Amino acid sequence: MIEFKDVEMQYPNGFKGLKNINVQIAQGEYVAVIGLSGAGKSTFIRCINRMHDITKGELIVNQTNVHQLRGKEIRQLRRNIGMIFQSFNLVTRSTALKNVLVSFVPEMPLWRKLLGIFTQEEKRKALTALDQVGILDKAFVRVDQLSGGQQQRVALARTLAQTPGIILADEPVASLDPMTAKQVMGDFARINKEMNMTVIMNIHHVDLALAYATRVIGIRAGEIVYDGQASDVTEAV
Ligand code: ADP
Ligand code: ADP
Repeated sequence: MIEFKDVEMQYPNGFKGLKNINVQIAQGEYVAVIGLSGAGKSTFIRCINRMHDITKGELIVNQTNVHQLRGKEIRQLRRNIGMIFQSFNLVTRSTALKNVLVSFVPEMPLWRKLLGIFTQEEKRKALTALDQVGILDKAFVRVDQLSGGQQQRVALARTLAQTPGIILADEPVASLDPMTAKQVMGDFARINKEMNMTVIMNIHHVDLALAYATRVIGIRAGEIVYDGQASDVTEAV
């Protein structure tokens, strides 16, 4: 469960990225956060994993008050929250498998990452994650030889391998062609259903949001202006 109570987030220059946010998101929801560029979508999701710090109110994630967490506790919080970006943030010269391997155990010692030493169990988990997003056959292909959609699936597999309870996705399909974007949205929907992972996704394509998410939150100028079931929305908000 994620709960925002009277949350405000003010940037250091004084600009309020979020104002008066009150919302609850239950485990297993697939939420699309929609709104124009600059509305505050990124600010909203980045508060959840403490990439931004709220400046008023309370933000509770799985019974913990995110604002009160310190160093090690923030890392613990983030272990349960996967993050997917528009730019896939992969090591393009490494294979799909290696990208999943080096990322899914945050506490793995650096020397093991550098030498590429992984256990059979780790490798099995990574391959399972690639299988879950339908690109097991690309495990040993370098990322720079994959299509955009396949690269976003590698990023999704990397997140899945951490088995987080929550996935935050910041415009994950913005740089994909319409067909591929639909497939990736479908991947998120399947993972959300089969693994009961909460998905909170920023997306400016209203039609895609309505077709795949179960709940839609509309943000404008740092405030929630719409919150409802995707199936209740008949036209763009
Ligand atoms: P969205 O994701 O909806 O495009 P953002 O959450 O990125 O919007 O930004 C919301 C607003 O906050 C925008 O008006 C943006 O200009 C402003 N903003 C973003 N980052 C900063 C910052 N570091 N300092 C001041 N204002 C910022
Ligand atoms: P490197 O760049 O060090 O050669 P790779 O990126 O090729 O490593 O492989 C990453 C991991 O996958 C390593 O643990 C390697 O042993 C394993 N691996 C590579 N190719 C295969 C393969 N064809 N079948 C099974 N495991 C492989």
